[in-house]
Amino acid sequence: MAENTIKNNEDVFHNEWGQICSQLKTEVGEKAFDSWLKPLSVGTFTNGVMNICVPTRFMRNWVITNYSDRIHKIWEKKNPSIKSINFVVQAGEDPMVGTHSSSCRSLLKHIVASPAPSIYLSGGSVLPISQNENESVVFNESSQSLSVPLNPLYTFDSFVVGKTNEFAYAAARKIAESDNVPFNPLFLYSGVGLGKTHLMHAIAWHIKQRSPEKNIVYLSAEKFMYKFVRALRYKDTTAFKEQFRSVDVLMVDDVQFMSGKDSTQEEFFYTFNSLIEEGRQIILSADKSPSDLDGIESRLRSRLSCGLVADIHPTDFELRVGIVQNKARQLNCELPNKVAEFLAQKITTNIRELEGALRRVIAHTQLLSGKEISIETTQDILKDMLRSYDRRTTIDEIQKKVAEYFNISVKEIQSSRRARTVARPRQIAMYLAKQLTSRSLPEIGRKFDRDHTTVMHAVRKVEELIIEDKSLAENINTLKRMLDM
Ligand code: ADP
Ligand code: MG
Repeated sequence: MAENTIKNNEDVFHNEWGQICSQLKTEVGEKAFDSWLKPLSVGTFTNGVMNICVPTRFMRNWVITNYSDRIHKIWEKKNPSIKSINFVVQAGEDPMVGTHSSSCRSLLKHIVASPAPSIYLSGGSVLPISQNENESVVFNESSQSLSVPLNPLYTFDSFVVGKTNEFAYAAARKIAESDNVPFNPLFLYSGVGLGKTHLMHAIAWHIKQRSPEKNIVYLSAEKFMYKFVRALRYKDTTAFKEQFRSVDVLMVDDVQFMSGKDSTQEEFFYTFNSLIEEGRQIILSADKSPSDLDGIESRLRSRLSCGLVADIHPTDFELRVGIVQNKARQLNCELPNKVAEFLAQKITTNIRELEGALRRVIAHTQLLSGKEISIETTQDILKDMLRSYDRRTTIDEIQKKVAEYFNISVKEIQSSRRARTVARPRQIAMYLAKQLTSRSLPEIGRKFDRDHTTVMHAVRKVEELIIEDKSLAENINTLKRMLDM
């Protein structure tokens, strides 16, 4: 009797899953459906949680990022007893799998009953679903071994757009959404931790979803060099070149690492030119603009800048707040706005550090379950980190360095003179004091003999100027580096 009910339920779920699949197929298109959703199957259902089996962890990440909300919504509407959906990796790849293997009975049944299904990864590399639980998954050597895995969290959806990165974002989106090659190469550059790698992965994910047959290769310049040197050692450069033949989109991250490596540059130049001539898309990133890259041969430098060059500026306050809020949502944490603003105000160096601080705050408060996140708890949890920011620089040092840099005196910086030659450096010094120390606006104001609204105005003004005025942005970066030492 009980068994019959289970059997009936299973049939109901299978039926519903079939209907959901038809709907998803029209929504996402046949290609994406065949690549990502067709290989899924219904597993067990317990306590409102529906287990869906996925053949690999890679697919699981992708499906969770791109389809899980939609699947849940459609299914919940059809069957309100489904409260949430859990994606379970089928045995073979994921070490967690042993605990779930019963959920995957139906997938295993399906595999045994039908010829080996395949999932197409980039560029027609075929990922066969293993028929034997102990058999490891086999990748097609040629393209898979070139590319390194993409981070499933680095998508366009999780990228927060603000004034400082909107141009780079628009360029990245344009490439991801175009059927042809809108500009070649796209050269992204910025300081560390400002989103270059995130954007490159986002482009790759987007293209993979739209055109799963495309062969996308993403690798760091270091990996490119490593592979090339290895090919030289084994006298196998023809095979090395051959690997790039079938690439539709080539992304090389952090090309500044090629500086001074003449033979690698030569090889890269060759690969680069032939891919461009064949109309393949190339995307590169570096920490400097092509013209500022030291140790890169001039013909390669000029070739690098012949497409579109897009830089990402240092973050501004609004963007940092947006990123913290977004990240907190991703981590299912209710973060008071005041705390998001506090973090964005204090941690200005790069986004990686900002995310790290947020994770620390969340982890601590979760451990002390029930404790609310407030500015006080945040200050407490991050006190070492914030103190080290303070230790790095004092407002006095900032005033001194800025005065020296602009060839005026510290007295003038602190004075009430409004001449631009003095007023602008003063605003820059206030901005740097806000960025590099954890002093409050009134505290900074006192050091300049001004009130906090003047400081606030100065900070905003400089943030705007950094975006509009490249040379001023560079001056500020130089000052920051000087002060950071
Ligand atoms: P880069 O390659 O420029 O050094 P990354 O792309 O590795 O920087 O970014 C560092 C971290 O900051 C990553 O975790 C990334 O997801 C995050 N990040 C950077 N920019 C953004 C943004 N605009 N929105 C959300 N997260 C971002
Ligand atoms: Mg990077």
